[in-house]
Amino acid sequence: MITKELTYKKAFEIKNNALKEKNARRNMLLNAAYSTNPRLLEIDNEISAIGAQLAITALSGNSEKVAVLRAKSVALSKEKSAILKKEMVADIEYDCPICKDSGYVDGKICECVKKIAASVIVGELKKQMPLESCTFESFNLNYYSKDGENARKRMTSILKLCKEYVNSFDPKSSDNLLFMGAPGLGKTHLTLAIVSGVVDKGFLPFYGPAENLFALVSSERFSGENKGSYQAMLDCDLLVIDDLGTEFLNEFSKSIFYNLINTRLLSKKPTIINTNLTMKEIADRYGERIASRLIGGYNANKFIGMDIRQQKFLEENRGI
Ligand SMILES: [Zn+2]
Repeated sequence: MITKELTYKKAFEIKNNALKEKNARRNMLLNAAYSTNPRLLEIDNEISAIGAQLAITALSGNSEKVAVLRAKSVALSKEKSAILKKEMVADIEYDCPICKDSGYVDGKICECVKKIAASVIVGELKKQMPLESCTFESFNLNYYSKDGENARKRMTSILKLCKEYVNSFDPKSSDNLLFMGAPGLGKTHLTLAIVSGVVDKGFLPFYGPAENLFALVSSERFSGENKGSYQAMLDCDLLVIDDLGTEFLNEFSKSIFYNLINTRLLSKKPTIINTNLTMKEIADRYGERIASRLIGGYNANKFIGMDIRQQKFLEENRGI
């Protein structure tokens, strides 16, 4: 399970370790330079002596002497730089010049850390799902033309909606989406493309088939495992419940499902649900209370067309 705290902890670890390595490498070169160039230590001592003198002279108001001391200090620094350059000791090149690899700018987390966090999330998500093969680019609209222009038109507009969803994604105001339709029409594909896009923007989604999500909460409640998973589902930037309707259903999972969608609706946090069920089947299976939340709070989109998995199978096995 991936939480925001853990992700950022890992991202800062990666960043700090990289900086530590750079510092260590530079210190090694620096030590070698100091041991072969005794002049470097002399320069350091001279610069620090001038520093002390400067403070006293500045207080006395003798601006001419201040200028002389400053010029001396600058000359010494230049001499030092020249020796270090000769010894191949360069200044540290920061990966991120904005925060100098500290990870913070004006007390806020720098964009560079968000990028690392996103790659940490992608790495974790890839272990669970085929994130790379399910992109907007690999969503092939040609599979929807065999069923007449209607399917193609509908799916073109759903694809557009998904892309716009990512572009304008806001974890506090984006719509809730309900993707309905028969299996094999690309619901999971487009949902994973949204997940990828949202991750790239530095947000933390929580994705899983309904079966797995409810099982996580159940094991947390009854055996103390997977602590924090329910809270993570409530708090994440985007919750994605895939394959709703295929899970084993009991009163506990029904109440978990209701609480998840209701709490997120109240706190205006977006959720995407994929299901093969019709609204009537949802009402029959989960009850009117849940169906009315979905009807009132979700932007429902019906996927139409011919099963893509079947079409691919026929293409691959043509002539057999
Ligand atoms: Zn930075």
